[in-house]
Amino acid sequence: MIQTAQPTYLIGLSVVLLIFGNALSVVSCSKLMPYDEYLQTPEWRERAAQVKMLRGKCAKCGSRERLEAHHLTYERRGHEDMADLQVLCHDCHMRTHDDHR
Ligand SMILES: [Zn+2]
Ligand SMILES: [Zn+2]
Repeated sequence: MIQTAQPTYLIGLSVVLLIFGNALSVVSCSKLMPYDEYLQTPEWRERAAQVKMLRGKCAKCGSRERLEAHHLTYERRGHEDMADLQVLCHDCHMRTHDDHR
């Protein structure tokens, strides 16, 4: 009885693990990820590099040094439009965040 039930149980368990695994990978791409962690993801780094390359300079002072991508809105975090991002040099970026505090 137990011997025939066991394989079914194992299949059931692996299905649960599969679903759970998928759920985890979905969560890792979603808004539930802490913002600091999101900034470490290859997806964000890629997007930030892209917008920096496109604009090429700071939106505030025109500097081309130490450029960073700044979020104008977090609404589409994880799948930002280019319009959601602003390229700022490190100094202007820090100042922008100070202003908002
Ligand atoms: Zn600047
Ligand atoms: Zn910022």
